[in-house]
Order: sequence, then structure tokens, then C-alpha cells
Amino acid sequence: MFVTRFAPSPTGYLHRGHAFSALTAYEAARAAGGRFLLRIEDIDVTRSRPQFEAAIYEDLAWLGIEWETPVRRQSEHLDDYQAALAALTTDHLTYRCFRTRKEIAQAAASAPHGHAEAFRGAPLPPDEEARRLADGEPFAWRLSLDAAEQALAGRPLTFVEEGAGPNGEHGAVAVDPALSGGDVVLARKDVGVAYHLAVVVDDALQGVTHIIRGQDLYEAAHVQRLLQVLLDLPAPVYRHHRLLTGPDGKRFAKRDQAETLRDLRARGVTPADLRAEMGFDRGA
Ligand code: GLU
Repeated sequence: MFVTRFAPSPTGYLHRGHAFSALTAYEAARAAGGRFLLRIEDIDVTRSRPQFEAAIYEDLAWLGIEWETPVRRQSEHLDDYQAALAALTTDHLTYRCFRTRKEIAQAAASAPHGHAEAFRGAPLPPDEEARRLADGEPFAWRLSLDAAEQALAGRPLTFVEEGAGPNGEHGAVAVDPALSGGDVVLARKDVGVAYHLAVVVDDALQGVTHIIRGQDLYEAAHVQRLLQVLLDLPAPVYRHHRLLTGPDGKRFAKRDQAETLRDLRARGVTPADLRAEMGFDRGA
């Protein structure tokens, strides 16, 4: 059974880019006679707001999208992420990282080779770690790529891309977790969990077979596939889709104050107009 999902974070109002992504996944599920799930990715309690979550339901319904209930809200499943983190920690694949964001950026920039933004660290010496823990210093849990590589023992890893990466990547893609940023954070200092871990756990628990999302998350697939292997979870198929761009050629983004679906609705744009603009009804 084909199962896909749309997984927005309630940190702002949805814009055209979200509509395109949600409709792409929804129409794929319909074409396959499969299931379409909605997941609210609200682990970032510092940025998530109830009014944005309410608006997601309203905007998607307005677009004509139907989803299964109950909706999975990540903030209600922190135990699942803790269990996955504990399993990785038991397997010596994680370490505590006390560094600040600035220190990480500096360490990555001075790395002798590899991707400029890829950070690789290591656990602190036990006595220093014990001292910092005793001092109550906050820490994040990171995935150790060195340990993960050892665990894989040279076994080549791939994921299946049925859509396309930003450089046309398609088919069986060799996993390069450095593309996802190196030793990614699995549990943030402030909220105790982080994006990659939560997504991988949820997709598996929800039985998602097809991950349909924008190309802005293509790099994330690399470390997410690695986490699936390390956690012994099934491999979903990926379909990264192109990013919708505005008349200025730039992609729609919250930070650029892209016109929201609510704004469009308020000025009389209909869901049919939007669907046509995005090419959904072509040939139908
Ligand atoms: N919550 C993520 C976002 O809003 C999407 C996660 C995913 O599709 O894997 O960008």
C-alpha cells in the first residue's frame, strides 16, 4: 500500500510552495490508490504556534485536500524519539556535544577537507564531560559519522530517488551523509529532539512508503537514510519535487514574506485558480 505524507511545521502560515508540495503528495496518493497523511512537525516549541497549526488545517481543507485522522503531532510523541536516541546511544553512535552554534561553524570551517559546512566531532574526555555535566551545562546529542561508518563496515548505502535532486539526481543514489551537514544534531539542547531523528522515526511508525517533498530537503535524505539503517527501519522511496518559484525566479519562503494562502484567499483567488497555476489540472 502506497502511503505518503505532508509534514509542515506550524511556524508560519502556508504559502504557494506548501500548497504545491501538499498537492503533489496528495495527488500522488490518489493516483496510486494510496493513503495521504498529514503530520504536524511541532517539536520546535520555541517557534511553533497553535494559530499556525489551526491555519494549516483550514488552508489544506480550502485546497480540497483530505487527510486521515488522527493527525500525528510530534510534540505528543517525544517518548518515541527518546527511545530511538537511546538505541543509537546504546550502539555508541552518538555523543554529547556542548559546543555553541558559533563554535560548530568555526570547527566546520577549519576542517581540512570535505564539505565546508560538514562538522565532525567526538565525545569529550570522560572527566571533562563529567565536570560539564556536573556544572549543568546544556548539551545536544549528535550522530557520530565516524562511528556510523564503522558500524556500516564499508557496506555501500543508497536510497531510491524517483523524483530528482537539485542536480538531477535520480535512481539509486549513493548516500553521502556529509551532505546533510556532518554529525547532525539528533537531540537539541533546548527541546531534546531534532528534525532528522523525529522524521525518520515518524515515517517508519506511520508506514510511509513514499516521501514526497521539496528539493530543499534532498540533502536531508542522505542522513535520514543512514539513520533508517542504523535504527533498522524500512527504506521509503523518495520523490523530491522541484521548488515553485515566483515571477522573480526565487522560491517561495516564509522568510521572504511570501504571500500566504490566506492572503490569496482574501483577495479572491480560488483553489481552482491555484491548481491551474501550478499545473495540477493539466491533461486531467
Ligand atoms: N517539517 C519539514 C518542513 O516543514 C518537512 C519535513 C519532511 O518533509 O521531511 O520543512
